[in-house]
Amino acid sequence: PTFASLGLCKELVSACEELGWREPSAIQQKSIPEALQGRDVIGLAQTGSGKTGAFALPILQSLLDEPRTYHSLILSPTRELAIQIAEQVEALGRGIGVRTATLVGGIEMTSQAIMLGKRPHVVVGTPGRVVDHLENTKGFGLKALKVLVLDEADRLLNLDFEEEIDKILRVIPQDRRTQLFSATMTSKVQKLQRACLRDPVKVEV
Ligand code: AMP
Repeated sequence: PTFASLGLCKELVSACEELGWREPSAIQQKSIPEALQGRDVIGLAQTGSGKTGAFALPILQSLLDEPRTYHSLILSPTRELAIQIAEQVEALGRGIGVRTATLVGGIEMTSQAIMLGKRPHVVVGTPGRVVDHLENTKGFGLKALKVLVLDEADRLLNLDFEEEIDKILRVIPQDRRTQLFSATMTSKVQKLQRACLRDPVKVEV
């Protein structure tokens, strides 16, 4: 299969080519078509599998159809990972003019609030800092969110982000798409899955 045969538009296919991605990885092959159909997806995959592309490409494709501020939220367990995800979303989405904001600890709230004021399409962050902004940054809200991604769900839960994730779930629409990725399927992850996903497709690599 090629990226085009998975159903991605030409801007995104050329972005993959520019990154030197010659063909979709296994997790991308299995999850991108399902996500493009609008399905919730659980991906059992490790770092290095290409899971970031697996959730970023469908987000970007749906943005192209329906560009809007605060379209997607990607939750990640660590700052480093959040920053890497945002870089990959930007690299893949440059051709379609995507704007992102990265909300992580250790950086001033004010500079992140300025980024949020620029009406980003995709927000990437750690749960604690995202909640901080939801509570303190005027104009930032997730009432129109289209896609939620929980990346490395097992680590999100091991780091005790449950309370923050619950707070976020309470302010986002039910009517959205959700993708959850995890290296392991623990009982805590299953519980989170039941709370967040609707009739999900499970893909494993
Ligand atoms: P990830 O598992 O998302 O952290 O990705 C690991 C690395 O694989 C990153 O450096 C990506 O740029 C790269 N990558 C993702 N998808 C592909 C692909 N289809 N072909 C080659 N490299 C890829």
